[in-house]
Amino acid sequence: AAAAFPLRVKNRTIGALNVYAAEAGFFNEEELGLLGDLAADIAFALEVHQRDLERREAEQALRASEERFRELAETIQEVFWILDPAENQVLYVSPAYEKVWNRSRESLYASRQSWVDSIHPDDRDRVLRVVASHNAYDEEYRIIAGGGVRWIRDQGFPVRGPTGAAERIVGVARDITDRKAAEEQLRQVQRMESVGRLAAGIAHDFNNILTVINSVVDLALAEVPEGAPLRNDLITIRDAGSQAAGLTRQLLAFSRRQVLRPEVVSLNSLVTEAETLLRRLLREDITLVTRLAPDLVPVSVDPAQFHQVILNLAVNSRDAMPRGGTLTIETRNLTVSPGHHPAEESLLAGRYAALSVTDTGTGMDQATRQRLFEPFFTTKEAGKGTGLGLATVHGIVKQSGGDIRVESEVGKGTTFTIYLPATELRPAPARARSAPAPARGTECLLVVDDDPGVRSLTARLLDRVGYTVLVAGGGQEALATLDANRGEVQLVIADIVMPGMSGTELARQIRLHHPGTRILLTTGYTEAETLREGLLTGDVQLLNKPYGPEELATRVRELLDAKAPPGSG
Ligand code: ADP
Ligand code: MG
Repeated sequence: AAAAFPLRVKNRTIGALNVYAAEAGFFNEEELGLLGDLAADIAFALEVHQRDLERREAEQALRASEERFRELAETIQEVFWILDPAENQVLYVSPAYEKVWNRSRESLYASRQSWVDSIHPDDRDRVLRVVASHNAYDEEYRIIAGGGVRWIRDQGFPVRGPTGAAERIVGVARDITDRKAAEEQLRQVQRMESVGRLAAGIAHDFNNILTVINSVVDLALAEVPEGAPLRNDLITIRDAGSQAAGLTRQLLAFSRRQVLRPEVVSLNSLVTEAETLLRRLLREDITLVTRLAPDLVPVSVDPAQFHQVILNLAVNSRDAMPRGGTLTIETRNLTVSPGHHPAEESLLAGRYAALSVTDTGTGMDQATRQRLFEPFFTTKEAGKGTGLGLATVHGIVKQSGGDIRVESEVGKGTTFTIYLPATELRPAPARARSAPAPARGTECLLVVDDDPGVRSLTARLLDRVGYTVLVAGGGQEALATLDANRGEVQLVIADIVMPGMSGTELARQIRLHHPGTRILLTTGYTEAETLREGLLTGDVQLLNKPYGPEELATRVRELLDAKAPPGSG
């Protein structure tokens, strides 16, 4: 005999209770009834168990999802938030809020005003207007957090109900202070770059004019006898002319287009050389202390320019110590291994000579610190500061492949530190500066300049000291002249910046078609290109505008007398 009882769970048959017996008719009615009840009980128990299982699974899933959310919200840098706009009540904000805003989450749950209060007063109205519209927004604003200003990017998205009204606003805010700082720095670099281009353009034209003025004055002075009334006027013009030349040099220095004449030197000797002048410059109530590291690694810089750097820094320190103090100049060796010197981070790994200038003066606030290298930025009253001192320093240091840092706080004094990479080059043998050979000659020279004033003056200056001089107004004309006088011309003096063919291109053509002809390139400023292309070697040299009669004659003679480089002529 067999009897089967279905097991029903939630109206679904999920199985059966089967009972078997060896003899037919083994179960009586009553027993069958009991077995039926038993099947129903089992089914009921199964159903309860099933429900329990499902509930537990659901709970587990919820817990897991909550756990995931909490993990995300608690570890992520972003601030998540949920707002009930009707009640103006923050329903949730993630823990990052406490780090970014430097306030407790409780304060925000207690009142949303605490967020409003944190917004920088200059940004507050704008942000509140946008947020009150209950539309999606994406805003950047400043907050005051823990005494400092931070930049926040805050995005909000409305969650709308059936009527279209925003029931919730969810959002995410993040700290973008670093990005803002980088952007500001980039803008500053671009500003410096465009001022630099402008300055270099002006300096180029100006140097042409000054070359003429200063040279002609020198020529005239040689003609006018001692004691003649005209002499004083000419001397006045000469002095003004050399002052103007100094000004263009300064313009070029901060635009980093100055022609540098680097030498292998120790910063120690530069400091020692500058000391006498510094003592005269500083008032008596300022103590000058120098601490020079023995065995300082040599660097490759233009010594004259670095004197200027030291002086500019010292003058600023003096001005910052109106009631006296101490000025300390220090040098030290430094090896940067990646990631080990927080103050020196972003310096490439390697060996450096560091020069620092420290004063016990007024110090600077953050706003000043941010802008101090900008040309024309000054906090000094009109007539006292030009704002060019640090721009010049910055330009010279950067152009020399170095870096400069400032540490300063109001009332705590200031330290400027300059880092210059150690050079692999060996010091050049001291040039014989004494007893210069008379800078004359009889060779044939070609002067190439698009500026007629400079061209005829240069020709005149060289003619005066014995040379045969040809002239050309541009690169093509110069090449034609060289072809017409094949083998005659020993040296070409060419301006770098010319319309049509540049001086550098001309130099390349001459090398190719007239090897052995030496080239003296003249320029009001360096284009990095000329130097990078390694054009300036042996038979090609650079002469800085404005030049005077002496300098021109000396450089021409030097280049003509230089030993012929291997492989040429
Ligand atoms: P200037 O000296 O003509 O003002 P600078 O470029 O040399 O121009 O300096 C710019 C500004 O940087 C100064 O006006 C001053 O506010 C600030 N500054 C520079 N050096 C110092 C220093 N050692 N201590 C305090 N402030 C300084
Ligand atoms: Mg200054």
